[in-house]
Amino acid sequence: MTWLDNQVALVTGGGSGLGRAVVRRYLEEGAQVAVLDLDRERLDELEAEFDDIVTVQGDVTSLADNERGVSTAVDAFGHLDVFVGNAGVFDDNISLPELDLDDVDSNFAELFEVNVLGYLLGARTALPELVKTEGRMVFTASQASFHSDGGGILYVPSKHAIAGIVRQLAFELAPTVRVNGVAPGYVPTDLSTTDSLGGERGIVSPEEFEAANHPLNIVPQPEDYTGAYVLLASPANSRPMTGTIIRADLGRSVRGITSV
Ligand code: NAD
Repeated sequence: MTWLDNQVALVTGGGSGLGRAVVRRYLEEGAQVAVLDLDRERLDELEAEFDDIVTVQGDVTSLADNERGVSTAVDAFGHLDVFVGNAGVFDDNISLPELDLDDVDSNFAELFEVNVLGYLLGARTALPELVKTEGRMVFTASQASFHSDGGGILYVPSKHAIAGIVRQLAFELAPTVRVNGVAPGYVPTDLSTTDSLGGERGIVSPEEFEAANHPLNIVPQPEDYTGAYVLLASPANSRPMTGTIIRADLGRSVRGITSV
């Protein structure tokens, strides 16, 4: 018996990085998985590698694409139990003065469309199916949901918004659908680099940043975070949990000048 037997999950941004690791782990735990991602090539790789997977190439900022994600999951597997909102983009640590006032859409709005609107559209379109199954939502938050130095002026507020989404939806959707989040620390993926998280403004070197802020002192891999996603997706094992954000932050939140 594995933790996600008979569960069907839809994972956004499952083509790469953290989302891809979650997709693999969910399949290992007995789930059937639908993936919504922009990247067709990576989706094809997943389909070639696994049974029990369906994929949709689409954009989380599009209502129609989110609807296709949900209907593809339900058509293939009969129901939907878990929605994982995960697709996100980074801002390369941009600061307020660096934002270009001549191009407000691409400089201010696009990141929020993916990181915030995309989560809400996914949640809204998955909701009717999750109500039927008394399902769960799991959102990828970040250490940047609680700190100011895991990104720039767009990324950090967008990730703080995810904490708000988790808490508000947990309240609104109780007791039928439970809503939780995972706040990873640094994850080496396409989205991130050590430099971008630590050394960007010369505050500390990347090495100092890691040592000062991450007491576990490991270089994590995406796979290291997937246990938290399994727990929150599991109907039995997460039964008393809603509105919780698991800080999988290498111990950062208990330490240092930047902790809250
Ligand atoms: P990644 O770039 O490796 O993966 C992101 C995936 O999302 C890609 O497959 C990409 O194609 C997809 N995607 C991007 N925009 C999309 C859109 N509009 N519609 C559909 N799919 C889209 O990045 P990652 O590091 O795995 O990031 C996943 C999540 O983890 C993000 O929400 C990110 O904010 C969060 N996160 C990352 C880190 C880190 O250090 N990498 C830390 C904390 C939280």
